[in-house]
Amino acid sequence: MSDHPRPQLIVLVGPSGVGKDTVLKALATKMKNLWVSVSVTTRPPRPGEVDGVSYDFISNEEFDAMVNVNELLEWAEYAGARYGTPKAPIDLHIAQGKVVVLEIELEGARQVRANAPDARFVLLAPPSIDELKRRLATRGTESPAEQEARLAKALVELAASDEFEAVIVNDSVEQAADDLLAFALSSSNSK
Ligand code: 5GP
Repeated sequence: MSDHPRPQLIVLVGPSGVGKDTVLKALATKMKNLWVSVSVTTRPPRPGEVDGVSYDFISNEEFDAMVNVNELLEWAEYAGARYGTPKAPIDLHIAQGKVVVLEIELEGARQVRANAPDARFVLLAPPSIDELKRRLATRGTESPAEQEARLAKALVELAASDEFEAVIVNDSVEQAADDLLAFALSSSNSK
């Protein structure tokens, strides 16, 4: 199996708490030319989140400015904050031969589908809704009300599974990362 899939843009959607970050970290150990986009967000950092690593944490005014000058490939509001994908770093990394992954929610993914026809779309799903509830509660970074809001979003995202080329269930992190690697190496939308 080649360790160097062709440059491409992969959009990974998955409910909050499903384990997208963990799966992408495992994928990074298997795929040398992976680059995961760093989004901008107006939500405050969680404990342990480093500015410029998990996200670029910016003000509402800075976010408005990025939208106004069309610097974002897509953006959406999610549970009271705004999130967006800066365009320029994506073009740069694709040009460098990277496989670029966007880890975003459903509305943003739909905008990417409209704006970047070559992008490929994967849904990361939990083994069950109960398990997702458990993971959100265990993470403990959101209040019960915020967890409920994220769970409601999760149900909408999972109901949209038909919009995705692949659905990967995150039961085991290693298996999910292997499945994602196989997806990146597959050529169903190639050239
Ligand atoms: P969280 O606050 O849990 O980090 O993220 C909340 C949701 O926003 C997740 O579903 C995450 O994938 C999504 N998200 C993160 N960055 C972006 C982005 O740049 N654009 C969009 N549309 N959603 C994003």
